[in-house]
Amino acid sequence: MTQALQGKNPSFVLRAAGELTYEDRPVPDQPGAYDVLVKPRWTGICGSDVHYWVHGRIGHFIVEAPMVLGHESSGIVAAVGDKVTSVKVGDEVAMEPGVPCRRCVRCKEGKYNLCADMAFAATPPYDGTLARFYTLPEDYCYKLPEGMSLEEGALIEPTAVAVHITRQAAVKPGDSVVVFGAGPVGLLCCAVAKAYGAKKIVTVDINEERVKFALQYAATDSFISARVSAEENGKNLIEQAGLGMGADVIIDATGAEPCIQTAIHALRMGGTYVQGGMGKPDITFPIMAMCTKEINMKGSFRYGPGDYQTAVDLVATKRISVKELVTGKVKFEEAEQAFAEVKAGKGIKLLIEGPAE
Ligand SMILES: [Zn+2]
Ligand SMILES: [Zn+2]
Repeated sequence: MTQALQGKNPSFVLRAAGELTYEDRPVPDQPGAYDVLVKPRWTGICGSDVHYWVHGRIGHFIVEAPMVLGHESSGIVAAVGDKVTSVKVGDEVAMEPGVPCRRCVRCKEGKYNLCADMAFAATPPYDGTLARFYTLPEDYCYKLPEGMSLEEGALIEPTAVAVHITRQAAVKPGDSVVVFGAGPVGLLCCAVAKAYGAKKIVTVDINEERVKFALQYAATDSFISARVSAEENGKNLIEQAGLGMGADVIIDATGAEPCIQTAIHALRMGGTYVQGGMGKPDITFPIMAMCTKEINMKGSFRYGPGDYQTAVDLVATKRISVKELVTGKVKFEEAEQAFAEVKAGKGIKLLIEGPAE
């Protein structure tokens, strides 16, 4: 293990479910004409990384060969291709970790996150960013504006997820927005909704500590779900949070069945619901309420055109703040321990430092 750590391209690798190790991977070639070689400096751990570690799969994405983990990264440009003009060696960048084919119908219509040929970091079979080197196309590197730290740069990935969800929800000034789940993405959805002028932002969770944090971070109201029927929970939520005829927009960042059911009952007639969280693939769903309320339902997957740049801009202009979400930082050698902490539900966002030189 120590030998791999001292190698030229030390990488944090998931060999199979439950089996983490370090490997010395080959150093990537000089980047192609439009590519950039980045040295990742900070990487946030995401629920999906932990899920691959524990289960070796997410849905039909199965870890069949050793895979480098990590996809929420910022780094320093180490080399650029001949045609690259927007970044130079030494620049600090946020790294958008999924590159689509750019040729298919979904890509051409501007929904590249729906590309069937997406190469996404740490989604099998593609390696992630927890290594000394990572190659990306120029247009997937976002130069960090003056005053933005590399730690903040690593938080751009979950922020872009929240930007995309909020875009799907079409949140507008004056809206009441309920966000189920006060984990990193739920919190960031509250912050983005606030930046977009939502009047009331209600955080919902079963963990009081998280709710407390959400209230001081971006939410205006809170609700703690109880073990009662979804209809009753929905009624109580509307009443407690003063939502009148129901919420204009509800975002689920949990994927939990009772939350999804409660959300549908807490929406106003003609309200909008966006599914951001991933949980059980199939659930019991109050489809009658969806029908008679004419609820607008949407999914949300990763991020599309403009979302990453919007996330950078929201942080750079201080319309949202991401610093306080970082609850721990560890060295590259301690990556496995950090994964164990995230699995145990400790903290909000843990960052892993890139390998020392
Ligand atoms: Zn993630
Ligand atoms: Zn495509």
